[in-house]
Formats: sequence, C-alpha cells, structure tokens
Amino acid sequence: MNNQPIACPKCHENNRVRKVSGVHNDSRLAPPPKPVFNDPSPRINSAALVIMALLFFFGGWMFLGLLATEVQGGWWMCYGLLLIIAIVMGVITNQAKKKERESLDVRMSEWNRLMGKWEELYYCELDDIVFNPHDGTSTSANNIRTYVESRGR
Ligand SMILES: [Zn+2]
Repeated sequence: MNNQPIACPKCHENNRVRKVSGVHNDSRLAPPPKPVFNDPSPRINSAALVIMALLFFFGGWMFLGLLATEVQGGWWMCYGLLLIIAIVMGVITNQAKKKERESLDVRMSEWNRLMGKWEELYYCELDDIVFNPHDGTSTSANNIRTYVESRGR
C-alpha cells in the first residue's frame, strides 16, 4: 500500500482525497461496466420455433392433401424438413456464438484497458473532481466516463 498522501491538483489538500476505486456511494464513480456474453441462442431458437410452427401448419395441410394418395411420403417429407431446419439452426447458433465470443474478447480487452485507467484515478470531495496523480490531469466527477474512455488512445 502507498501511504503517501495524494494531494488534489486543484485545492492542494489531501484530507478529502480518496481513491476512486474506494468510493462506493457515488454511482458516477462506478467502474466501467464489465462486458457480458449475449447468448444468441434464445433469439435463434425462437426464430426456429416460428419456422417449425409454419412448417407444421403447412405440413398438416399437405398431409391432408396427400391423405388420399401418398400418406407415408407426406410424413417423411415433413420429418426431413424439420431435421434439415434443426441442423441449419444448430450451425447458425454455433456460428453466432463463435462471433459473440470473438466480440466479447475484443470488448474484454478494451474493458481491461479502461479498468486500468480507472484504477489510477483519485477523487477530491471538496472540488468534486477526479484526477490522475501520475500525469496531473483532472476532470469533473460527472465527466469521468468520457475522461476514462478518451485518454491514451
Ligand atoms: Zn480538491
């Protein structure tokens, strides 16, 4: 732990200065939100359900039409189409998950970079500013999000 008091660049006091990561009662100073994995499966599965419902509808219709002639063939056709849809949806789901995982990797590395910058910041209660003692820059507490995201790109 660094016990040397950090002075505010504006008021030059240190008694009201706290590390931003140690402030928990101010939502403005909260850490950058951690990226989450947006599972694409539910969206794709609900699309598959709609297609299958339509197929059942038209399949039943087709079945009634075929009843007089080729009952077996009608059923096998429906079964085959459902199987093909299930396989296609499985492939689409895997592709979408892979894409989402890659996107999450990118968002996570960006988040780690922002967290590193956020961890360096201090907050002065008197002036309601945040500052980085390493480079002497500061901004209002309301602007912390932009400050963390814009610097050092
Ligand atoms: Zn101050």
